[in-house]
Amino acid sequence: MTTQYVYVNIDTYRCNGCGTCAALCPAVFRMGEDGEKAELIDGCVALSEELEKAASMCPEKCIELEAC
Ligand code: SF4
Repeated sequence: MTTQYVYVNIDTYRCNGCGTCAALCPAVFRMGEDGEKAELIDGCVALSEELEKAASMCPEKCIELEAC
């Protein structure tokens, strides 16, 4: 199976800082130093089950995955 890569985007305006994405997929997401917003460790990453789950579980639906 070939690895699919996606560009991850977070709409930080809508992010409520819940930390779900960082808990589910710490390889891609982390919380900013002030803990108020999520940020990306890397923008273009291999699509994984954890990443898909983090995007679908975001309560604000502010994580977008785009092929890159
Ligand atoms: S799951 Fe969504 S709302 Fe929660 S910290 Fe991550 S990007 Fe923000």
